[in-house]
Amino acid sequence: MQSESETSVRLRFAPSPTGYPHLGNIRTALFNWLFARHHGGIFILRIEDTDTARKVEGAVDIILDSLRWLGLEWDEGPYFQSQRLSVYRETAQKLLDEDHAYLCYCSPERLEAMRQEQTKRKQPPKYDQHCRNLTEQEKSQLKAAGITPVVRFKTPLEGETTFHDLIYGRVTFKHDTLDDFVLLKSDGYPTYHLANIVDDHLMAISHVLRAEEWLSSTPRHVLLYQALSWQAPRFAHLPMILGPERAKLSKRHGATNISEYQKQGYLPDAMINFLALLGWSLDDRTELLSREELIRHFSLERVGKTAAIFNREKLEWMNGVYLRRLSLGEFVHRAMPFLDRDLPDSVRRPLDESYVSQVLSLIQERAKTLAEVPQLADFFFLDELRYDTGLLLKGKLDAKSATGAITIAWQKLEKLATWDAATLEGILRSLTTELNLRTGEFFGSLRIAITGRTAAPPLFQTMAVLGKEKCLKRFKMTLQLLLPSCPN
Ligand code: GLU
Repeated sequence: MQSESETSVRLRFAPSPTGYPHLGNIRTALFNWLFARHHGGIFILRIEDTDTARKVEGAVDIILDSLRWLGLEWDEGPYFQSQRLSVYRETAQKLLDEDHAYLCYCSPERLEAMRQEQTKRKQPPKYDQHCRNLTEQEKSQLKAAGITPVVRFKTPLEGETTFHDLIYGRVTFKHDTLDDFVLLKSDGYPTYHLANIVDDHLMAISHVLRAEEWLSSTPRHVLLYQALSWQAPRFAHLPMILGPERAKLSKRHGATNISEYQKQGYLPDAMINFLALLGWSLDDRTELLSREELIRHFSLERVGKTAAIFNREKLEWMNGVYLRRLSLGEFVHRAMPFLDRDLPDSVRRPLDESYVSQVLSLIQERAKTLAEVPQLADFFFLDELRYDTGLLLKGKLDAKSATGAITIAWQKLEKLATWDAATLEGILRSLTTELNLRTGEFFGSLRIAITGRTAAPPLFQTMAVLGKEKCLKRFKMTLQLLLPSCPN
């Protein structure tokens, strides 16, 4: 048998712009891209835009932007099927000429009535082949009446079609479960089936990797290839992606438009790593794989048949890992637009890059997404913090001890000439001993005074970055807040 690299490996991603690309679409694109790159082949982008009624404005741009954002660059295309209509019409004509197809004049009303009747009888909806057997006289009458026909394929009446799927193995469909499907619609546009196989043939596609939902279309495609005496590509249907508890993937779970992940601050490399593991695995253990490693190891043998489960916590964890791997400079570069976008308007722009960099050196460890960065870091930028006095007292020092301790801390720190984490730590730790306080309680109160929250980056480093003036101001504000809770 020829090895993959000896043949010409040509893959395609063929999205329909009937909606924005979601996780499943992009997983398909990724597997095609990985397979092509692994074998040194070609990755083609083809926009299947023949369903004019369901076309969504702007979808093509979002598809292209998403692929670019993820670095899934294509070698050919994008080809647009809407610009290739004559090719499909010629093929439909060839199928008509060779008696593999026929003209169907049935009106939408007749088809609808037929469908209703079938539903009533609990039969699967299927064209009843009314026009397959028209007499010559009937045909010329219908033609003369000026009705625009559709072209339907003559599915063999008996027997079955078997093909080999690279993931599912031997797959057989009985012909009586397939109907005489439409090839060319009355508006002159091809259906998915016709345009898809014509293009896969003309674009010399070697492997079709697509979602499992297309498996039932494949026998139709195989029949078309046979009718046209064309060699069919190899097929590999990718397992479904389900949400937690094996439910259908919902918007909440990630069926959402892929550009949402960009807006939420996921890194392309983390997305690629995560998506690669939705259906493929290296060894059931390894979770973190770079793009290069994925290309090196990707193979269809390790694509599973069972549905992959989408797990948002895993995606967040993975993104955190990739965020921590960035150099500080790169992290700042990527987080800056999110700070700009999401910090309150009261924070003066442009943000000072060297200050941002000091702040983010404390945040990088903690962020799971870039969109979290402004929330984790806002207290570094705000002039005044707003928080509840209750927070200061909950499980910490009582108001009187807190007021006393913070006042003394304020007096000591006010005199400080050197404002760095080590000096601050030295002073505040000895103060804890001096006042006979518990470190956890005292530092807990200070943390709230400085950050307005209970969980934040290490206290002394935070204070060092914030600077003397802001810290002292925040202590003062805390003292004012505590005042009403203090007994006289
Ligand atoms: N246009 C189809 C889609 O939107 C392509 C399916 C295929 O790859 O054949 O997914």
